[in-house]
Amino acid sequence: MFTIENNTYPVLGIDISTYSKDDFFLLVEERLKEEDASAPPLFVVTVNPEIAIQSIIDKDFKEILRTSSINTADGVGISWAVNFLYNKEIERITGSDSLEIICGYCEKYNQSVFFYGAAPGVADKAAQVLKEKIKDLEVIGTYSPDSQDMPFDELPLQTKLALKNASVIFVALGAPAQEKWIHANLSRLTKCKLIIGIGGSFDFIAGNAKRAPVFFRKSGLEWMYRLYREPSRWRRMMMLPLFALNVLFLKSGSQSVQASRQSIQAGPHSFSNNGNFKISK
Ligand code: UDP
Repeated sequence: MFTIENNTYPVLGIDISTYSKDDFFLLVEERLKEEDASAPPLFVVTVNPEIAIQSIIDKDFKEILRTSSINTADGVGISWAVNFLYNKEIERITGSDSLEIICGYCEKYNQSVFFYGAAPGVADKAAQVLKEKIKDLEVIGTYSPDSQDMPFDELPLQTKLALKNASVIFVALGAPAQEKWIHANLSRLTKCKLIIGIGGSFDFIAGNAKRAPVFFRKSGLEWMYRLYREPSRWRRMMMLPLFALNVLFLKSGSQSVQASRQSIQAGPHSFSNNGNFKISK
């Protein structure tokens, strides 16, 4: 049986996983290899400070973040908060970095992928680009919905069937819409092994948006680069100081915040029946 200790640390009420990248992708790999059809899907949320603030305002969203299997630190603000609050260094695991790596595992283990979301044509272009790099990647479908909350029943029949048959689904609607879409539809996606909200990642892969150079990514300044490229993001960036203030307040208000220890198991008997990957305390 495959087991990984997963310590989670709450940041503004969201349990952030301290998985290293290696452990995270090991878990992904194990889940994709799992053949038990009753095994629940791995629902991954890559958390940034904007998501954390939105979850304070939107209680439904916060509840959804409690149902996810793993919340990783996507934004540098989240890894800073875990370090500041708990003196624990954690690695960032971003949606953009994960997309290509997970597609590589899908090729290796013959798992189909579906690309859902982004502007018309973008998911399709991203699929083409990835298929050029990952030759045997099976893209079972792509779809750009008319709106973020387009009901599942209104999707074209072919899209519904492909979604229901996909092993891995990448959802690019922006947060919190993508996590809400996943939560609303996960029970229909019976073949799904892994589902993840990936924000603007299709735009990067398709070449519609330029990802920050490595220097910006490594130094935690990716947000600054994106603001420079897309000045319209300034409103969203206002959430960063708000997030920092909340974390400072949390630290001064409570000295008793503690990490909770969990283990995620990925062996044949290790999945719970509550619709999610097993996380046993
Ligand atoms: N998006 C969408 N429908 C919408 C709003 C956004 O498909 O109504 C897509 C958008 O085209 C982009 C992704 O959602 O591909 C979200 O990008 P954003 O930059 O907001 O996400 P981030 O990377 O900042 O999490």
